[in-house]
Amino acid sequence: MPEPIEITFLGTGAAVPTIRRNHSAIVLHYTGEYILFDCGEGTQLQLQKAKISPLKISKIFITHWHADHFAGLLPLIETLHLEKRTEPLEIYGPEASRFVDAIIELSYWGTGFDIIAKDVESNQKIFENDLFEISTIKTRHSVPSVGYCFKEKDHVHIDIGKANKFGLRGIDIRKIKEDGKIKIGDKIIKLEDVSKITPGRKIIYTGDTRICPEIFKAAKNIDLLIHEGTFIERFEEREHSSAKEVARLAKKNNVKKLILTHFSKRYKTSKEIEKVVKLIFSKAIVAQDLMKVKI
Ligand SMILES: [Zn+2]
Repeated sequence: MPEPIEITFLGTGAAVPTIRRNHSAIVLHYTGEYILFDCGEGTQLQLQKAKISPLKISKIFITHWHADHFAGLLPLIETLHLEKRTEPLEIYGPEASRFVDAIIELSYWGTGFDIIAKDVESNQKIFENDLFEISTIKTRHSVPSVGYCFKEKDHVHIDIGKANKFGLRGIDIRKIKEDGKIKIGDKIIKLEDVSKITPGRKIIYTGDTRICPEIFKAAKNIDLLIHEGTFIERFEEREHSSAKEVARLAKKNNVKKLILTHFSKRYKTSKEIEKVVKLIFSKAIVAQDLMKVKI
């Protein structure tokens, strides 16, 4: 069984928070790594409620620099400093250096750890290790913005019987796993000839956006799409999406699980959103603060 990917919704409200919905922030936990997407006001208190130590967070990905998505950074950094963090903290986002520099400037003595700002643009691979990669996705908002795609690396299970049949030794198996193929004599053996490949899981988080066709193109057949759904109905003049339209497009693109988040304060209960979107797409879920989902 592959390691679970656990997502914790720390904040699911839009520009104005409510008693029930904090500002945007999501933690993704996978193989010991904790990654934060957006860091709205109050994120560190939500982390405490979710029983996740802020010291564990290795990277923060900001979708855009509206306060409801980043105002929790300054107090979070202060806490990490007081808790004597030493590991560097990476903060990614469009124009990240500009905003991270401004935040660091607000502190008297700096921090005891390095903060590394990484500027990103749409449609870039921005991080990769042996287990997963993270890329940016185009979104459409009133300021520079991106969505993020987490893609687990494919799982390769070598069939020893088949490998033996092709005469592969241990060193050949390592090479075929690295290069995807190997030449033995005049014969080329492909990785798929001697293995079963299980595609890695894929998750997209949009941040704030109008309906953007590029997101749904990238989300075709995806395991989990976390999309903003600020309003139930469409408001032409707003830079946000309607939950109804997101549900319709997620269904059309065969999304395996849709979680809507970032709801306007006008909606007093989740039920009123849920009853509308479930009628369109039964796999749609309305996010709640502190909700945990495993895929
Ligand atoms: Zn927002």
